[in-house]
Amino acid sequence: MDNNENNKNKLEPDFDAIAIGAGFAGLGLIHYLREAGLSIRVFDKASDIGGTWTWNRYPGAATDSEGYYYCLSFSKEILQDWTWSQRYPGWEETLRYMHFVADRCDMWPHIQLNTEIASAAFDEETGLWTVTSTDGDSWTCKYFISAMGMISEPNIPHLKGMDTFEGPCFHSSRWPQEGLDYAGKRVGIIGAGATAVQMLPVMAKTAASVTLFQRTPNYVLPAVQKPMTPEWEKEIKDNYDEILNKCRHHVFGMAFDSPVGRTVAETPPEEVQRVFEEHWPRGSFRFCFETFDDLLADADSNEAAAEFIRSKIREKVNDPDTAELLTPRGYPLFAKRPPLDHGFYEAFNRDNVKLVDINTREPIVEITATGVKTTEHEYEFDIIVLATGFKAYTGALEAIEIRNAEGGTLSKKWQETSASIMGVCAADFPNLFIITGPQAPFANLPTSIEQNIMWITDCIQKMEAEHYDVFTPKQEAEDAWSAHTEEIHAQTLMAEGYKVNSWMMGANIEDKKPRVLIYFGGADVYYDKLRESVDAGFPELEFSKRVAEGA
Ligand code: NAP
Repeated sequence: MDNNENNKNKLEPDFDAIAIGAGFAGLGLIHYLREAGLSIRVFDKASDIGGTWTWNRYPGAATDSEGYYYCLSFSKEILQDWTWSQRYPGWEETLRYMHFVADRCDMWPHIQLNTEIASAAFDEETGLWTVTSTDGDSWTCKYFISAMGMISEPNIPHLKGMDTFEGPCFHSSRWPQEGLDYAGKRVGIIGAGATAVQMLPVMAKTAASVTLFQRTPNYVLPAVQKPMTPEWEKEIKDNYDEILNKCRHHVFGMAFDSPVGRTVAETPPEEVQRVFEEHWPRGSFRFCFETFDDLLADADSNEAAAEFIRSKIREKVNDPDTAELLTPRGYPLFAKRPPLDHGFYEAFNRDNVKLVDINTREPIVEITATGVKTTEHEYEFDIIVLATGFKAYTGALEAIEIRNAEGGTLSKKWQETSASIMGVCAADFPNLFIITGPQAPFANLPTSIEQNIMWITDCIQKMEAEHYDVFTPKQEAEDAWSAHTEEIHAQTLMAEGYKVNSWMMGANIEDKKPRVLIYFGGADVYYDKLRESVDAGFPELEFSKRVAEGA
């Protein structure tokens, strides 16, 4: 279909809203905007819906939030009718759930897969966005929405010789969609973040060998996977309103019982250890949030938790040298996002798993035709996985040419800083919404996604009811949000992330400086601020009726 000619002459857009990304955000948008009476088309370059869960098909990929609140909440019926099989569902199950939602809510007519968007340009005269695919097709819309997710654009390292390797070599989030037979094969994994931590123990079970090239060790917390029992499911389903309410009012959007009203600073050391020991076997990020309230703000309290985790690594890993290499030091817990452990540490007790320290002992020199060459050895592999992370928050938006009427692009805007208004819109980019954009919180994503979509829907409803054509995010509102976000960030221990290449500060990107990417003032506070904005009539935006009648 070529609509280019058509679009030039008409003011009526093809769709009220166009979104990129058919993951949780895209599905949520279809629900809320359709309820509001708008037409919407969601494009995705993937061949299936699912976003993260269709791209990251690596062995062991699973949610790190507990599944029963890592889901969309708009339909009470779906919450009751869907059954999770375990505490942290794997990618296949999460994908099945998303299909269940799309089927049940008849969302498919609004979704166009296998369509990669190359650019989007705003036209001041018409007040419309023109969205163009890599195939050259284009569509117009009044509202252009990024639903591309905050961890979706791969960060591919610049390693010498990378294209010379003769076997499969790919980024973890570009896992072959048809699957990959790694049984009996020699696998090299470059990168030791949350992805590698999930992948390694599963692959080690059947691969001939798995070698992990690690630069910085992480504080890996126990996941403690468990099956969903009928009793647990009943308890959840009888209390769903309360669970969702907990998410809405939690600093990280999680259904956790915190704050707990207890700090390390004010607790005797023996009691601190007892509380850590008691919570460790419960698993999940609960260790950070349901033990003490000062772990992410007080350096000494954080160090007490960090030292406890170090002692657990020594307990789990038999070889003391390997245990020491896996032990994080010199940076606080949560300055890098802690992964969850499904047998990661124990996997190093297997004969077929090897850890290579590429930080000091033997940095990588190059990728060769047969494997990886370090300063000390040459390792031979059949498969190399680049578990090297993502260009978080802004990467997906920067990969597309998103151009305002003055010709400025988001990519250019975010060269030095990554400013936005509450992560949902950006100054100088009219009628553009972002779901979980830069300077939004890092939280249980479905909770944040739905809160963002509600704000967007309320904004659009105001626009339509009051016959506005264009909203323009105000520069002073962006300056104020950015300054507020930076001020809070500086008060947390996450501000030390730049020392260890944390993606939470964009410090993992080779050609960019670290920056404040995340609002750490509390997801609950942030959700309140979104509501206050709605109640006050969106003071961050200037509304106008710029389009001449009949133009
Ligand atoms: P990551 O945490 O950014 O880890 C990337 C790894 O690659 C790091 O170990 C990094 O080392 C290494 N690396 C990067 N560039 C390198 C280079 N040039 N040479 C050698 N090593 C290099 O990425 P990730 O593991 O994909 O996880 C990213 C985020 O995605 C997670 O924190 C999480 O939020 C999300 N995620 C979520 C789940 C889940 O919820 N289930 C699962 C996986 C991922 P340095 O640390 O030294 O930079």
